[in-house]
Amino acid sequence: MIATTTLHGCSLINGDWTPGTNGEITGFDPRTNDRLEPAYSLANSAQLKQAITAAKRAFRSYRLTTPEERADFLTSIADNIDASAEEIIQRASLETGLGTARLTGEIARTSNQLRLFAETIRTGAYHRVRIERGPRVDLRQRHIPLGPVAVFGASNFPLAFSTAGGDTAAALAAGCPVVFKAHNAHPGTAELVGKAVQGAVEKHSLDAGVFNLIYGRGVEIGQELAADPAISAIGFTGSRQGGLALSQTASQRAVPIPVFAEMSATNPVFVFPGALEGPDASEALADAFVLSITGSSGQLCTKPGLVFVPRGLAGDAFVELIATKFTQSSGQTMLTKGIAEAWQRGVDTLHSQPSVEVLAQGTAGPGANAPGPVVFESDIQVLLNNAILQEEIFGAASLIVRYDSPTQLHDAAEALEGQLTATIQATQKDIKDVSALLPLLEDLAGRVLFGGWPTGVEVGHAMVHGGPFPATSNAQSTSVGTLAIERFMRPVSYQSLPEELLPSPISEANKWSVPREIDSY
Ligand code: NAP
Repeated sequence: MIATTTLHGCSLINGDWTPGTNGEITGFDPRTNDRLEPAYSLANSAQLKQAITAAKRAFRSYRLTTPEERADFLTSIADNIDASAEEIIQRASLETGLGTARLTGEIARTSNQLRLFAETIRTGAYHRVRIERGPRVDLRQRHIPLGPVAVFGASNFPLAFSTAGGDTAAALAAGCPVVFKAHNAHPGTAELVGKAVQGAVEKHSLDAGVFNLIYGRGVEIGQELAADPAISAIGFTGSRQGGLALSQTASQRAVPIPVFAEMSATNPVFVFPGALEGPDASEALADAFVLSITGSSGQLCTKPGLVFVPRGLAGDAFVELIATKFTQSSGQTMLTKGIAEAWQRGVDTLHSQPSVEVLAQGTAGPGANAPGPVVFESDIQVLLNNAILQEEIFGAASLIVRYDSPTQLHDAAEALEGQLTATIQATQKDIKDVSALLPLLEDLAGRVLFGGWPTGVEVGHAMVHGGPFPATSNAQSTSVGTLAIERFMRPVSYQSLPEELLPSPISEANKWSVPREIDSY
């Protein structure tokens, strides 16, 4: 029996659950389109301002916390999330239609991510200290937190890219308070995770303004949040439209601020002839491809939406296998009615393009919003002449693009928009052609894979989940992995300061034992 907490149905502002006066929303069960209790009252502008003011105040003390204190705080958030895992998963499944197995994995990823950031803080490397003792002046550089960060989470990862997801974890790790705009597609899940963060704030006697959770409409309260002078940076995951709107607001402020928006990608996969040789190779490849499209109903930012397959007998046989497997597949519930409708519009648009054929479609799943996965086929010249074929369809759909020679892949790699990932399916036999394509793929994407499929994203120190526009608004960063801390910090140089004034990481005493580069240039 899962213990169920009473949900407040309102925003967490400066440590208090505070009813709003700006209308209300509810979550929906996408399997039935039924409303879910409770209704969530939306914060008004004055309440948003209270939350931002609290975050600004909290920054003064939170930025001075020791690595140990901050790491313990992140670990407590992780522990609290794990302790409420069953209840969070149950609510998230109701609100998103995602299955228990997927959400169990996602909750582990979310708490492990927080623990990884905690470990990273303890090493002290994120201060990125450089000390240069002369010859003319003593210069000491370290990175300091930016200030309060506004975070917008995505609908498709209600835990790992939401309330206490990657951007929140990175900002808190860096020493920045967070004002999180709750996603209206999973309001109850947002509250349960918000409580886990609130519990950790209280346990460690931190300023209550360190974490605020605001319910409201993106185009209203979200925009006000992004425009507020006390906000120093924005982390966002979601649609291109939303990411661009926030980027525009941030750049038009009197004091512009950085926006780290992870938006859309089609994640091209380049299949070389060698990958289709051997009795089982094509079968295994086709199985893995169908799984990467149908898993989570294709609602993954790394879903491979474009697959380049060579013409010829082996390519034809591979495409036929894919067609069979798609026909046998069935749909899973999508996150919301609106997202299912957007998927249908995308599929209809692609279907209406000249020289684009439906190769196969699976059957619709049970309940509402579970359309059958669909795969299209076209030719590389058609893709090069029609930008619509490059557009992401969020959900279970993909386009197979046939090519005649590996040199045509260079044209495609140069014509494609910036991507989160680019995947190579090849063997030793293809190495020469792959090596010629590789520099173009580095320019194209934030992560280049050899073999495998791009949908799994490891949370680690060397991961880049980012890439050139429009995959993200800033290709110099990542939204997954510990490098993300750097988004919310900036370098400061201290020239000739006496030892007693130097902050701990750059002082001679170095009592936090931070790793440092000293006179090594
Ligand atoms: P989203 O609609 O962009 O929403 C993400 C968050 O940003 C929400 O909290 C939203 O608030 C807010 N927001 C949206 N537009 C805004 C604006 N103009 N100004 C300020 N805040 C804004 O993304 P999503 O919920 O993850 O996905 C929904 C749509 O994005 C789908 O239709 C899908 O096709 C597309 N998409 C998503 C991804 C992804 O990785 N998540 C990738 C590709 C495409 P509200 O909920 O109040 O609007």
